[in-house]
Amino acid sequence: MTRLETAPHCARRLRLARILPILLLAVVTARCVSRVAPPPPAPAPPSDHAVTLRVEVGTGVDRTVRRVSLEEYVRGSVPAEMPISTNDAVGGPLARLQAILARTYALANRGRHRSEGFDLCSSTHCQVYVPAATQGAAVARVVADAVADTRGVIITSGSGPIQALFHADCGGHTSSATAVWGGPAPDYLAGVPDAFCVTEARNHWRLALGRDHLRRMLNTDAETAVGGRLDDVSITQRDVTGRATLIEIRGHERRIVRATQFRAVITQQLGARAFRSTFFGVETSQDGFEFTGRGFGHGVGLCQTGAIVRARAGSTVEEILDHYYPGTWLERYSPTD
Ligand SMILES: [Zn+2]
Ligand SMILES: [Zn+2]
Repeated sequence: MTRLETAPHCARRLRLARILPILLLAVVTARCVSRVAPPPPAPAPPSDHAVTLRVEVGTGVDRTVRRVSLEEYVRGSVPAEMPISTNDAVGGPLARLQAILARTYALANRGRHRSEGFDLCSSTHCQVYVPAATQGAAVARVVADAVADTRGVIITSGSGPIQALFHADCGGHTSSATAVWGGPAPDYLAGVPDAFCVTEARNHWRLALGRDHLRRMLNTDAETAVGGRLDDVSITQRDVTGRATLIEIRGHERRIVRATQFRAVITQQLGARAFRSTFFGVETSQDGFEFTGRGFGHGVGLCQTGAIVRARAGSTVEEILDHYYPGTWLERYSPTD
């Protein structure tokens, strides 16, 4: 039987036999298309050992340099830099936030202490790092989950990890890196307003110093030394957010110094908690000086107090990072970057 001789019902069956697979394919395809397409497989995260860091731990005779993987380093840094509550709904999100910060900062600053034979110190100069083995079990679990959830994730603005600077409390406006330290700075460190940290009572600080006490402290540093007499301290320049940037010190010598330097000389003697920020004013009296200020830390980048309040108010990790580092995004770090 030739095709031309095919009986009508056979021809219909044949046509149906030919069309059926196409119809079935169409139905299957339509069902597939109507479903949400599964996400493409995530790129393989970098091996835990792809990046190792040489971290200085301990001081004095106990000082050693440890080689730790990047993710191990992040596990040790997260709870040392961010209070992680284990019975608080935001404990997990804040641990994830800090893990991304710690990883980004470590990668951007690897080799900061190269001339001393290691990559990062474990103090606030770089990031505080305490080996994860010393963490309590509950905190360690939250942190380990957060580090695993964000494994390899960093903040970028298009060319590798950003300078993910952060501080305890901005006092109401994060500061421009240029205003604080001088020199050029990336757009994401230009400073943003922050209406969240200011709701916390610890936002304000005050320090009264006797005239001679302050004079002796200033004389410990060549840049602020005034000699045998201290007459006055005044703020001669503020940045657009109100943060002091230049200080005039008048005494036997007259000095103009950066506010960060002035603060550093005092915190060197009294600790960082005594003179918390450069977001301050000063009043002079017969006896000495009263400094009143807002915030805690250099004020550049992410404000941790603001981030905590935002997380409690329902902001996601991405939204928080987007506020403090505008124009940046998250990506998975590739060791070949
Ligand atoms: Zn350091
Ligand atoms: Zn803030």
